[in-house]
Amino acid sequence: MLGTGIMGAGMTRSLLREGLDVTVWNRSTDKAKPLADDGATVAETAAEAVSGADVVVTMLFDTDAVEQAMADALDHVPDGAVWVQTSTVGVDGTARLVELARSKGVDFLDAPVLGTKAPAENGKLVVLASGPSSLQEKVRPVFDAIGAKTQWIGEEPGDSSKLKLAVNAWIATVVNGTAQSIALTRALGLDPQQFLDAVSGQAVDAPYVQLKGKAMIDGDYAPSFELDGVIKDVDLVLAAARDAGVDTTLTTALRDRLQAASGDGHGSEDMAAVVHAYEVRERS
Ligand code: NAP
Repeated sequence: MLGTGIMGAGMTRSLLREGLDVTVWNRSTDKAKPLADDGATVAETAAEAVSGADVVVTMLFDTDAVEQAMADALDHVPDGAVWVQTSTVGVDGTARLVELARSKGVDFLDAPVLGTKAPAENGKLVVLASGPSSLQEKVRPVFDAIGAKTQWIGEEPGDSSKLKLAVNAWIATVVNGTAQSIALTRALGLDPQQFLDAVSGQAVDAPYVQLKGKAMIDGDYAPSFELDGVIKDVDLVLAAARDAGVDTTLTTALRDRLQAASGDGHGSEDMAAVVHAYEVRERS
């Protein structure tokens, strides 16, 4: 497992719980070391981590991070091992990584995941997988350990990352929409909990509305997904939408509000902190 941030650490514990042998590496070793208490072997380098692996999982911030880690590691991936790329890297990023894997003759699966910190810890992610179906059996124990389900999208690596962008566009929309209604309810002089109660259990509700809405009301921004990570993903959505000719008006507005919250110092907080970008400001 290369990368033991919020997601990688949770996924590692889920793999260990299922009895798999896991060697971890993280750029900042202090984030990898605690996983030794859970039974992981902690490697000093990415190259050391992947040698001996049947399956190499990357769960790093973005394409550059994955490329840097794998540039060191790829020559040490054993013959027959599969590289499972779970970080969110978008369409062009996945194409770059597919090419990198091909150049070294390593089998590659595009496998971004849905779900956040708690599902990663509990083995309840949804794995969106695409790539040669001949690799499915080899990675099944890994996918079964980290996920509640695996959705095979097709034989073409890159298709899962396309779908992931559509899902993350939706996540950014729901979180911003929730933030807007929480801020509006409050600014109109009402208790914002009334908004959550009004939609609760109705067709317009979603678990995420309640989860993130409550966090916004409580001011609890302990990160499950850092706001700056959402900006990274929205940029991937914008790039893909522009290439495909899809209108970007809404996504551009969502990015603007996320950027405003990040600019106010909330970038390392949970994405729920975007509510700050909707709050009443002093009128000039
Ligand atoms: P995170 O906690 O910020 O972890 C990011 C990881 O990337 C850390 O291990 C970090 O290492 C590493 N990293 C960053 N730049 C690097 C570089 N240049 N070289 C090597 N390592 C580098 O993020 P996360 O929430 O786990 O997210 C990881 C990936 O999963 C992202 O692509 C994200 O979009 C995606 N994702 C996140 C969620 C979520 O809800 N959190 C859900 C689905 C998918 P250091 O510790 O040394 O900084």
